[in-house]
Amino acid sequence: MIDVRFKYHRQQVEEPVVSIIIPAFNEQEVILEFHRRLLEVIDKLSEFVFELLYVNDGSQDQTLGLLRELIEDDHRINVLDLSRNFGKEAAMTAGIDHVRGDAVIILDADLQDSPELIPKMLDSWRQGYDVVCMQRASRDGESFLKKFTARMFYLLMGRVGEVRVPENVGDFRLMNRAVIEALRTLPERTRFMKGVFAWVGFKTCTLPYHRDARYAGETKWNYWKLWNFALEGLTSFTVAPLKIASYVGILTSLAALGFGAVILIKTLFIGDPVPGYPSLMVVILFLGGLQLMAIGIVGEYLGRIFIESKQRPVYLKKEYYQGRSQAELSKPLNADETKKVANQ
Ligand code: UDP
Ligand code: MG
Repeated sequence: MIDVRFKYHRQQVEEPVVSIIIPAFNEQEVILEFHRRLLEVIDKLSEFVFELLYVNDGSQDQTLGLLRELIEDDHRINVLDLSRNFGKEAAMTAGIDHVRGDAVIILDADLQDSPELIPKMLDSWRQGYDVVCMQRASRDGESFLKKFTARMFYLLMGRVGEVRVPENVGDFRLMNRAVIEALRTLPERTRFMKGVFAWVGFKTCTLPYHRDARYAGETKWNYWKLWNFALEGLTSFTVAPLKIASYVGILTSLAALGFGAVILIKTLFIGDPVPGYPSLMVVILFLGGLQLMAIGIVGEYLGRIFIESKQRPVYLKKEYYQGRSQAELSKPLNADETKKVANQ
């Protein structure tokens, strides 16, 4: 009986399913306005079936409560509640692991990524692109320092990184099923998503967009977090700093040899009446500093190996709330589920 109904359902749903992942951490001020604007956009796109997945990343405010009210009367909405705040990268990973769409879009909850751009992204997807990246043409509401440091990061990443991370492309993007499947196969724990996204490749196009200022609430990033994020990005995607340490080491040794020769010649031919305490001090401090730096770089990598070797999950799921008539959404989750339904 169910088997027949299932088949019937499958024939009914021909529209592609589009999943939207929204990581949210303490976003009570914006979440309802965000949702209203998102619905306005997707309600007009009748040629797609939508699935919205809010990932509540351990919010301490009313975010979860508000989201749970939303799912009460909309079967398209699901809420994945994580056990604590794991950070946006982990929240996105959690979302990627739980969506079923043929195309998946990641959106910030603070309205910096306009939901109104979704139709444009879907157009590019239908033109045959696997990944549609949204590139910030402007960064409203961001300080000069943030823009400057971002610029430096992309420069450095472009120089030494093994994958090219496109500049000013954030997490706002569309990916098709194949890309999502590819992302799910990556086991690493330290997740620098911009790098991971760039690493998987696929046919990509980039659309420029105007990035608005945050609608309300505050950014969850401070400079210390951003610095750590940049370090993570660099060390997860390149081993070049490890090589830098040895090159700098070789160069300093050569310089020290040259300096030694100069001293020797000077003493032999000119004579050196005052032993050079200051120069000695400078050399010792300089080499000491270099050594500490090199050890620090090694430590960064060792730390990452340590974290990877513990094999802990990237996030922990507390609860998965489904919008009401979710069972009606007839697209099966995966092959196993299809089998289960067919066997019933
Ligand atoms: N976010 C999250 N977990 C965190 C920090 C942020 O899920 O630990 C979400 C946040 O709710 C928002 C998005 O990630 O939807 C972007 O965060 P934010 O606006 O603070 O970053 P920015 O836009 O300043 O880079
Ligand atoms: Mg933001």
